Amino acid sequence: MTRCKHESCGAAEKVWLPYESEGRSRGLKPHQYCIHCGVVKNISPDKAKAMGYYTNKLARIPITKVQMRLIIKELENMDFDDTYSMAKSAQEKVFVSVVQKYCKCKASLRIV
Ligand SMILES: [Zn+2]
Repeated sequence: MTRCKHESCGAAEKVWLPYESEGRSRGLKPHQYCIHCGVVKNISPDKAKAMGYYTNKLARIPITKVQMRLIIKELENMDFDDTYSMAKSAQEKVFVSVVQKYCKCKASLRIV
């Protein structure tokens, strides 16, 4: 499976969708979407981070290289670092659940 490189639609084709900021609904805002796969771009300040941000966090907890590789592989399979459409808060939820699947240590509970 190859990852979509995402290309935004033009300004005229934007779609009006509910917009949320700081956990509160702020009415409708025009959103861009990808002309290839149709995914809507996340325009909230809750912006997704690249994989490196999370691998740095993994490096700070006591896990083996094998555990780390399994965690990263699973995250990649979920399009976890799709910064076009993902939100940071959504990433954090997924990240914690995958880390805890492979690491039962206490540090994994406060990794984000
Ligand atoms: Zn796309």
